[in-house]
Amino acid sequence: MLTPRDKVKRVTSWVSLVEPSLAKELRARGAYIARQRVMKNLCVSCAVHFGVSKVRSAEDRRL
Ligand SMILES: [Zn+2]
Repeated sequence: MLTPRDKVKRVTSWVSLVEPSLAKELRARGAYIARQRVMKNLCVSCAVHFGVSKVRSAEDRRL
């Protein structure tokens, strides 16, 4: 389902293409590891599910 523009919770996370243990070793040797930016547009229920935002009461949601 499409989320209305003003209801979207935008989450940006950086994902490494190299596995963590290898990336740590490479960084220790001074290598530059490329990271990919992953942007997610979550609806309110998904944002709550993934722990991005917390559930608020109807009173709190009113602006
Ligand atoms: Zn959703």
